[in-house]
Amino acid sequence: MARIFNFSAGPAVLPEPVLAQAAEEMLEWGGSGMSVMEMSHRGKAFIGIHARAEADLRELLAIPKNYKVLFLQGGAAAQFALIPMNILGDKKSADYVYTGQWSKKAISEAKKFCAVNIAASSEDQNFSYAPAQAAWKLDPNAAYVHYTSNETIGGVEFNWIPEVGNVPLVADASSHILSRPLDVSKFGLIYAGAQKNVGPAGLTIVIVREDLLGRAMATTPEVFNYKIQAEADSMINTPPTYAVYIAGLVFAWLKQQGGLAAMEKTNVAKAKLVYDYLDQSEFYQSPVAKNDRSRMNVPFRLKNEKLDDAFLKGAQAAGLVELKGHRSVGGMRASIYNAMPMAGVQALVDYMRDFEKKQG
Ligand SMILES: *Cc1c(COP(=O)(O)O)cnc(C)c1O
Repeated sequence: MARIFNFSAGPAVLPEPVLAQAAEEMLEWGGSGMSVMEMSHRGKAFIGIHARAEADLRELLAIPKNYKVLFLQGGAAAQFALIPMNILGDKKSADYVYTGQWSKKAISEAKKFCAVNIAASSEDQNFSYAPAQAAWKLDPNAAYVHYTSNETIGGVEFNWIPEVGNVPLVADASSHILSRPLDVSKFGLIYAGAQKNVGPAGLTIVIVREDLLGRAMATTPEVFNYKIQAEADSMINTPPTYAVYIAGLVFAWLKQQGGLAAMEKTNVAKAKLVYDYLDQSEFYQSPVAKNDRSRMNVPFRLKNEKLDDAFLKGAQAAGLVELKGHRSVGGMRASIYNAMPMAGVQALVDYMRDFEKKQG
């Protein structure tokens, strides 16, 4: 067996100790005589796994008591519609910050349910920065303010939490949740698909302030009704049991690493290694404004794009995979989530230096 360095944006690399533990427990979990995949979600064993996962997530993010944690399905993309369905209430519009491909999708889905006010946008500079707070035009009557706190494709990360007054702040944190501490109390709702920084695809995390529950449109499906799911511990129907189990192992691993403050330190060091290399190079280039560069998703370009294919081929041969940028933007992208070790980032930078020497 040879594991390689996987820079995929998602589904993405998982911590090796988590995979090893899952392998060890594949045939039998905790003396139960069966795999977690084979367990009833109503049984004591799985209810314990589910409760432990939630408790560890609450501890990691210091989630206040007046927030519910939901383990749902449908991906972050389902939330694009479920957020207006669940929290518009009697309001007619919502504010959205338009910073790239993912906020674009959130906006187009929300338009099916309400008027969308674009409170700020970075379209003028090809989505290469996070619009400053002073440029936001917020509507005090909006049902909520939605932003994408880390744009996975463009590699733009908000390293500050917007101030939006009394209007609930909603964040799509899919690609950087758990990469740094976060003051949950500043938000009405935070959501994330698991397959970037949490676990396997199939699980979606929603952290929602209790006062936002109970406003759902009558047409909201029960399995997607936040209040009904909150009252049923996210088990109105069969939850994605194995994905919850693996996410739980990841949460336990994060605690062992020292929690989110320690993860942040490592993530800062990893990101610095790549960006410092990009900035001193005449051969590569980062398209994102320095202050707003994502620690998780690092897009970069070769100044001579004719060398793109050779770069990717050589990387593959060196055991560095999934470096091709998203089809909508081209170039390269290295996703360096929590589970990507420093050694992987170092190997990438070493390869980039070698390639530059040979070709540059
Ligand atoms: C990946 C991603 C999504 C979509 O997630 P799915 O689970 O595929 O629905 C949405 N928003 C962001 C920021 C993402 O990175």
